Amino acid sequence: MRIGIIKETALSEPRVAATPETVKKLVAAGQQLIIERGAGRASSILDDDYAQAGAELLDDSSSVLRQAQILLKVQAPSADELAQLNPGCAVLSIVHPHKNPLLPDYARAGLSVLAMELMPRITRAQSMDVLSSQANIAGYRAVLLASQYYGRFIPMLMTAAGTVKAARVLVLGAGVAGLQAIATAKRLGAVVEAFDVRRAAKEQVESLGARFVEVPVEESGDAAGGYAREMSDEYKARQAELIHERACQADMVISTALIPGRPAPVLIKAATVAAMKSGAVLVDLAAESGGNIEGTVDGEVVTTERGVTLIGTRNIAGLVAADASALYARNLLNFLLPMLDKEHGLQLNPDDELVKATLVVADGQVRFGQPAAQ
Ligand code: NAD
Repeated sequence: MRIGIIKETALSEPRVAATPETVKKLVAAGQQLIIERGAGRASSILDDDYAQAGAELLDDSSSVLRQAQILLKVQAPSADELAQLNPGCAVLSIVHPHKNPLLPDYARAGLSVLAMELMPRITRAQSMDVLSSQANIAGYRAVLLASQYYGRFIPMLMTAAGTVKAARVLVLGAGVAGLQAIATAKRLGAVVEAFDVRRAAKEQVESLGARFVEVPVEESGDAAGGYAREMSDEYKARQAELIHERACQADMVISTALIPGRPAPVLIKAATVAAMKSGAVLVDLAAESGGNIEGTVDGEVVTTERGVTLIGTRNIAGLVAADASALYARNLLNFLLPMLDKEHGLQLNPDDELVKATLVVADGQVRFGQPAAQ
């Protein structure tokens, strides 16, 4: 089949959906790869590298879109891209189906759309889990981003001119991103503490050498699939006091708390930001989902009058574009390859639980939100 890759056109999106490594494997599996020239440039991939891997380079995105039978993307097709695709084309990308207004248009255009972020978190699908591969990178890069804005040393230093204290880092939400943020901050020499509503997170936080901040209320936020659930009002009130206290001691805060399908919980109120140390830096990885920190502006970096910096930069994984693309492209390959049949093309088996969970548009219908797509 003809598999197309184009340069991403969404704002702040340097990633690309295929690398020479994944192209090579798809070509070896008998597929034809067509790639827009320059598609990998922002991820440090040259056209020549794609060509050597066996892809055919085309001059513009339109030539790719008009011929593609399968389109691999990072972000779902825009209205302009959609208008150029042929009916029957299958698209694999991040889709944001709960807020993507184009889903009915994809259905009318006769596309099959698979939303990679809906991949079930089961053992079989671990190598296809784009949320994990990208959150891992975001957690790492968030700490480096905070360090760029932080005007002090991170590790403790003992010098002839006196001792410099280690930075105190508070990580809110110890899932995939949070655990990587903890590990990165520890490597830089910070004193790290972390908080999560899931009791299961305590052991993981402690195994990385960080302190787990515990809310003294007998309630756990563990929900199905390792995700968090919404907590009681009493828990939230005690949690708010504790986070306020810990944040006032912190030099850096990395917040990563998300609840699937709901706005992100607000964990740091404006009053806490106002009481934090001058020079403190906060990175809100949940900024795009409403934010964990009051005062963070989605997509921007703001500094308060007291000198506290709030970072709401989008697509932090994209700041490590080459590796983010490499992992994302492998996630796509691992999902796509077993569904490709040399004779019959792409086989989307509606009984397969991975297809059931991710196929949000098919047969002219929007399936997202329907029982079969849950
Ligand atoms: P996520 O991005 O949905 O949320 C990030 C973290 O925020 C989670 O740990 C969550 O518990 C936490 N959180 C939510 N509300 C909070 C609040 N009010 N206060 C503090 N923390 C809050 O989660 P994630 O990082 O994608 O992963 C969640 C879990 O799923 C982890 O246990 C992870 O190990 C597990 N997981 C399993 C698989 C698999 O089995 N294949 C794959 C990936 C992740």
